[in-house]
Amino acid sequence: MIVLKTQSELRTMLKPCKISADALNVAEELIRPGITTKEIDKAMHDYIVRCGAKPSFLGLYGFPASACISVNDVVIHGIPDGYRLEEGDIVSIDVGACCDGFHGDNAYTFIVGNTTEENKQLLRETEAALYKGIEQAVVGNRIGDISHAIETHVTQFGYGIVRKFVGHGVGKALHEDPEVPNFGRAGHGPRLVEGMTIAIEPMITMKGDGVRIMPDGWTTKTVTGANAAHFEHTIAITSNGPMILTKRK
Ligand code: MG
Repeated sequence: MIVLKTQSELRTMLKPCKISADALNVAEELIRPGITTKEIDKAMHDYIVRCGAKPSFLGLYGFPASACISVNDVVIHGIPDGYRLEEGDIVSIDVGACCDGFHGDNAYTFIVGNTTEENKQLLRETEAALYKGIEQAVVGNRIGDISHAIETHVTQFGYGIVRKFVGHGVGKALHEDPEVPNFGRAGHGPRLVEGMTIAIEPMITMKGDGVRIMPDGWTTKTVTGANAAHFEHTIAITSNGPMILTKRK
């Protein structure tokens, strides 16, 4: 069931969404060769708690940290640990915060120092695909229009689309209906109406769609070993067009 939000609920959602976005800024400031992913997670956790919010991911389905930190060929759900970031790594950080009864959810892939042109293009075009999807998030369109726009954008570069995981509604629960796949047919799926809040989150690989979940039950890697990128915003469908609730400064 898709839960629509009132104007006042949308205003309430701005706060957890802003805290989620600011938590990515906290991470960005720390990212450099030598820092561990666990140190980044701790700083993000402490920031969210200092803001009076709760890290949405901590304990969700048993996830052991506040942020998913996924390096290189890890697409999503990387568990922060003692790994020290290296020059040239790409690191996807996904984080959510909950306060006043609502969640925010967002992700961004950062570069550690400098990296290859190939990696830079993957990041640039995955982020561009996110915005292509957001452009379609208007009243009267359907979920499939968002999905199709993302798919059309990334496939022209020969990239793979992770199909096992998709975007989602977000609100009082972190994961609500509807599913928002990163592939699909224009004109299909649930109709977009005012008051819907969804997380659009392309998970794109340099090559191939396949992923494998590691024995820890979380870490999701590309089957080919190719690098992957992940960008996400929580947005609201409004009569004035899509509103990005997790906009970063
Ligand atoms: Mg999400």
